[in-house]
Amino acid sequence: MTVSLSPESIAQRIATIQAQLPATTRLIAVTKTQPATVVRAAYDAGVRDFGESRLQEAMEKQAQLQDLADITWHLIGHLQTNKIRKALQHFHWIHSLDSLKLARKLDQAAAEMGVSPHCCLQVKMVPDPPKSGFSLADLTAALPELNHFTHIKIVGLMTLPPQGSTVEATRDIFTAARDLAESINQQRDGQRPAQRGHSIQIRDLSMGMSGDYAIAIAAGATMIRLGSTLFGERPPQG
Ligand SMILES: *Cc1c(COP(=O)(O)O)cnc(C)c1O
Repeated sequence: MTVSLSPESIAQRIATIQAQLPATTRLIAVTKTQPATVVRAAYDAGVRDFGESRLQEAMEKQAQLQDLADITWHLIGHLQTNKIRKALQHFHWIHSLDSLKLARKLDQAAAEMGVSPHCCLQVKMVPDPPKSGFSLADLTAALPELNHFTHIKIVGLMTLPPQGSTVEATRDIFTAARDLAESINQQRDGQRPAQRGHSIQIRDLSMGMSGDYAIAIAAGATMIRLGSTLFGERPPQG
């Protein structure tokens, strides 16, 4: 069972983090495994962006938080294709857009529902077999088709260093993600007339968790996703 911190200590931890953030970096409070009371405590401390990994768990909490109408909900965990419609009903952002197949289905459902979720392409900057996400080669190959989707708004990259990465490896991964975003943006229409362009613009870099957010911020993260440093350790999942 999760033993939750008091609202006062949550507010204090949030204030400490906020004081370290550049104006361009948005704090996403990751409340997976935490009860709705913890979401409410963070909300009362000024947080408006919340990240959840599991759809069902998020929906249960949202039902208890309907009075907090100005929360932006971010899905940060893998999305199964049979849950796309529910995800679109319950999240404004999808950080875990991890395959072209998912993108196709998501765009189709978004069109049918008349919604336009913000999406980050989840990319593996180094091979990491246990994780989902685009490899660099997959992402390059997918760009022309990603460019043609009409409803999903592809505005960011999300990356997670492999478990156990050193500080140096983590820094290299975050820097490479920033460079990748720049290179995608440089291939846009009109930027290099000789090349066949696209119109995707990557404005956001969703990278950095409790253990590595300072490295991510230094590398240019615009969204950090923090759970345990705000709310205490989670029990092991599974
Ligand atoms: C759980 C999770 C986080 C938050 O992790 P902490 O180490 O508790 O800050 C961030 N991003 C993703 C994708 C997660 O699954």
